[in-house]
Amino acid sequence: MSPLLPHSGAAEPCRIRFKTGTRQHRADRIIPVFLPFLGCPGHCVYCAQDRQTGAGDSENIRLILENAYAATSQLPACRQGEGRELAFYGGTFTAIPASDRSCCLNLLRRLREEKRITHARCSTRPDALVSSVLNELLLNGVDLVELGIQSFNDEALSLSRRGYLGKAAEEGCLKVQEAGLQLGIQLLPGMPGSTPEVFLADVKKALSLSPSCLRFYPCLVPDGTVLARWYREGRYRPWTTEQTVRTLGEALRLAWQAEVSVIRLSVAPEPAFDSVLLAGPRHPALGALIQAEALLLSAEEAVNRLGRPPLQLTLPRFCQGFLYGDGGSLKTRWHELGLGPKNIIFDSSALEATLC
Ligand code: SF4
Repeated sequence: MSPLLPHSGAAEPCRIRFKTGTRQHRADRIIPVFLPFLGCPGHCVYCAQDRQTGAGDSENIRLILENAYAATSQLPACRQGEGRELAFYGGTFTAIPASDRSCCLNLLRRLREEKRITHARCSTRPDALVSSVLNELLLNGVDLVELGIQSFNDEALSLSRRGYLGKAAEEGCLKVQEAGLQLGIQLLPGMPGSTPEVFLADVKKALSLSPSCLRFYPCLVPDGTVLARWYREGRYRPWTTEQTVRTLGEALRLAWQAEVSVIRLSVAPEPAFDSVLLAGPRHPALGALIQAEALLLSAEEAVNRLGRPPLQLTLPRFCQGFLYGDGGSLKTRWHELGLGPKNIIFDSSALEATLC
């Protein structure tokens, strides 16, 4: 960065820089091992993990791990500077039987020794953290623990039958970090009791805890869940796609500003899951729409700080694919800012936006 330019966020008379995040996470660098419902202490009202992962029940963990090893051993060993990550998703990893966890960690160590992976993470609940287990994860090469926090709001947590309250959620985050592990936080915008205001307060709380990454999973209504019954009875209404894009756009803007990456903006497509969805904000390009909204909101703020009509906006090249939203739906709002194809340029080497 030029010594004459301020860091992102600081204004100067003629030029403002702001963060735009980075290209979304590359899925081919992750080796997911799904352990649906394993270690799960109950059924949250919205959860249909067996369908979401398409993996059925996970009684035979050894078979799941054997399959994961067979698939991973086909991959070339990682070369210097390359990264590949093993990820235990879907279960409450710290609450599964010790013998099962030991099998998972054996796989992790073996893949690390063979240099097929360089990193590892797991997901769990904030109320299922014991220091000795966190230490076991650390010693066996887990780098990051993602907590399914969903919300820090007591009412939303109670309505969704999560089984803990906001204070426990926050304490869980601190425990992970105190154990020397990186922290990931998953949030569930639109869950029962979650309004846009509640969710944005959740995002601010999460960012205040300095996580390594966030994930947002807009709440959907799969058939066969308590939420589906509530939806049919008119007791629960999911967020619209528009509401989701607006609210998560603002949340993503906040995360960019705090330089915390958001590695998921919607539930991954899964035919078995999609076929049983009754309602909820499902759109094939939801992530791109949210990024487009976040970029526009960031630009609006920068133009306000500039205090005069902008001359030019330079964006990292990857923004080109989503800049104007679905079918150009954001063009009018960009135009109102005094920005459009004539004065927005893309720079492959830029890591942030520059407005002048
Ligand atoms: S979301 Fe709730 S019900 Fe589903 S696996 Fe996690 S703890 Fe269990």
